[in-house]
Amino acid sequence: MSQDFFLKYIIVGNTSVGKSAILHRFIKNDFKSDTIATVGVDYKARNINVEDKSIGLMIWDTAGMEAYRSFTQAYYRSSAVAIFVYDITKKETFTAIPGWIQLIRQNCPDNPHLVTVIVGNKSDLEQQRAVDSTEGDKMAKEHKSLFFEASAVTGDNIDEIFEKAAQQCFEKYKDGDIDITNDTFGFLLGPRQLEICSTGGETSGCSC
Ligand code: GDP
Ligand code: MG
Repeated sequence: MSQDFFLKYIIVGNTSVGKSAILHRFIKNDFKSDTIATVGVDYKARNINVEDKSIGLMIWDTAGMEAYRSFTQAYYRSSAVAIFVYDITKKETFTAIPGWIQLIRQNCPDNPHLVTVIVGNKSDLEQQRAVDSTEGDKMAKEHKSLFFEASAVTGDNIDEIFEKAAQQCFEKYKDGDIDITNDTFGFLLGPRQLEICSTGGETSGCSC
C-alpha cells in the first residue's frame, strides 16, 4: 500500500532561542538573521521520505506568541510532534524546557503518542556555551524525548531533527499504536493543498 501521510509538528521554547531560524533553515536551507515575529499562527510545509513513503510535514511556528505563553488551541491541538528548543548559550532557556513540556502535555491530552524532541540550538557558539550537552541528553532521557544539538547558522543537525521525529511517528504507526484516520494523533491523510496554508494566519481550508 502506497500511502501519503501528513504530520503536524509544533515548535516551542523561549523567545530568541532560534525557533523561526530552525524552521527557515529546514524549509529553505538558508539562514535568515532577522526573522520577523509575525502575529498569529503561521505554518510551513516540506515533504520528506521515510522508507518508501512520502511524508508531508506541516510545521507550526509560534509567531511571537511564546512570550505570552498564550497559544490558541488550534496551535497545539492534534500534534504528532512537539519540538522543544533552547539556546545552549542561555541557561534559563534550558531550565524553562520542563515547563514547556508540561504546558504542551496539559494542552495536548488527546495524543498519548506525541513524539517529543529537545533541541539545544546555536551549537556554532561553542565558546559561549552555558549548557553542557550531557545535561541536554539527561533531560531528554527523563522526558523520553529525542535529543539534538543543532545550529540554524551552519545547518548542523537541522534535517535530522525533523527526519528522526517523522521516523519515530512512522514506527508508532507500523506498531499499530496510531489510528491514522483519527486526526487527534496529528497524522492526516493526503492529498492536501499545503500551499493554501503556508502563509501566516491563514488556517481555513485545512483541518489543522
Ligand atoms: P525565535 O524567537 O525562537 O523564533 O528565534 P529567532 O529564530 O527569531 O532567532 C533569534 C536570534 O537568534 C536571531 O538573532 C537569530 O539570528 C539568532 N539565531 C538563531 N539560530 C541561531 C543559531 O543557530 N546560531 C546563532 N549563532 N544564532 C542563531
Ligand atoms: Mg520566532
